[in-house]
Amino acid sequence: MSLLVEEIEPKMPLRKKVVIIGGGVIGLSIGWQLAKNSFDVTIYDRNWAGQGASWAAAGMLSPRAEVHMQASDLLQLGLASAELYPEWVGELESDSQISVDYRTHGTLMVSLDRDDQAELEHHYSMQLALDLPVEWLTGAEAREIEPYLSPRVTSAVSCKKDFQVDNRLMVQALIQAFEKFGGNLLQQTPVCKIEIQNEKAIGIRVEEKFIEADLIVLSAGCWSSQIEGLPDWARPPVRPVKGQMIAVRMDVPTILQHVIYAPDAYLAPKSDGRLLIGATCEEQGFNTNITAGGMFELLRGAWEVLPSVYELPIDETWVGLRPGSRDNAPILGKTQINNLIMATGHYRQGILLTPVTCREISSLIMTDQPSSLIAPFMLERFV
Ligand SMILES: Cc1cc2nc3c(=O)[nH]c(=O)nc-3n(C[C@H](O)[C@H](O)[C@H](O)COP(=O)(O)OP(=O)(O)OC[C@H]3O[C@@H](n4cnc5c(N)ncnc54)[C@H](O)[C@@H]3O)c2cc1C
Repeated sequence: MSLLVEEIEPKMPLRKKVVIIGGGVIGLSIGWQLAKNSFDVTIYDRNWAGQGASWAAAGMLSPRAEVHMQASDLLQLGLASAELYPEWVGELESDSQISVDYRTHGTLMVSLDRDDQAELEHHYSMQLALDLPVEWLTGAEAREIEPYLSPRVTSAVSCKKDFQVDNRLMVQALIQAFEKFGGNLLQQTPVCKIEIQNEKAIGIRVEEKFIEADLIVLSAGCWSSQIEGLPDWARPPVRPVKGQMIAVRMDVPTILQHVIYAPDAYLAPKSDGRLLIGATCEEQGFNTNITAGGMFELLRGAWEVLPSVYELPIDETWVGLRPGSRDNAPILGKTQINNLIMATGHYRQGILLTPVTCREISSLIMTDQPSSLIAPFMLERFV
């Protein structure tokens, strides 16, 4: 009888069942592409999806401003992701019908005194040595571009190609796009354990229930090392790095267009009138207190470069936890446990690195071909 049925109904190829642990920008973006390519994808989030670091971020896409000489692989990854951004945003906006406020005014790094200026000159010479498209400006030239900058600004480096996005809109767009292609999003559903048998990940445990999977992606941000079941060497060494932020509301017309990197704070103006001021960088474990000192330092740092901040109403204050790995670079790709893929540890650059992580990890899953771009970021480097 069953033979007869098979003869009549052509066999459908089995859809690969992928479980993604963590619905931040990283898990959601991989899920979106896999669902779009007909995989059977479920994303589990222990909270509401996208409310972790992805919600807390400032949305700056600054591989050139944030460059460090030691980390050339990370620079290449960041530049590749920045390059992907326009097309990736186009696809996301079209799939979700949500604009993510991708702003292309560029970034100015500014100095306020002789010490800052010497540091900025050093940074600028490093950027030039790396052949990055940057330009030195005097304080007056910087004020021609941004008239509300303080007269105390002595000089600036213009990183014309470092843009920004509204990460909160990006989260909403990713959820919409993921679900549009049949992705299954289970929120308020923590994954307790990854089940491993003979060095192969075979499923997860949610409360007591076992859920089978062909492939598991671990993208649980700064909580990635807390999930049980992995042997110690396979736990991604990721820690929380606390960042406090403030949003003030700008007057109309807005007083700032560019992202500003000041010596003690950065400022990221959004099209809806919010001006984000960030961020502290604190090793405080999972503590999420907003402190008077943190707020004071950020406001002082912002006011020094943009005095009109003094008059602006405060919209919101918040804290986020960046997922920082042992070397502060992401952990990406296959592991020595079959069917377990890592996509975590994006630290300060997870919004920037979303398109490249999304492309490389989803194509690794779809084609099983290794990627040279993410090869330096495998978990193996810590083992
Ligand atoms: C203050 C601040 C400013 C930042 N600014 C920028 C910036 O300007 N530009 C930039 O590129 N990056 C920035 N970042 C970094 C960026 O936000 C992160 O690198 C990025 O959001 C990481 O995304 P994620 O998806 O890995 O993590 P998250 O967004 O934290 O998502 C992880 C998800 O996993 C879920 N989870 C955890 N444990 C479990 C479990 N057991 N089961 C199920 N789900 C689980 C969580 O609930 C969470 O939703 C900033 C970060 C902070 C905190």
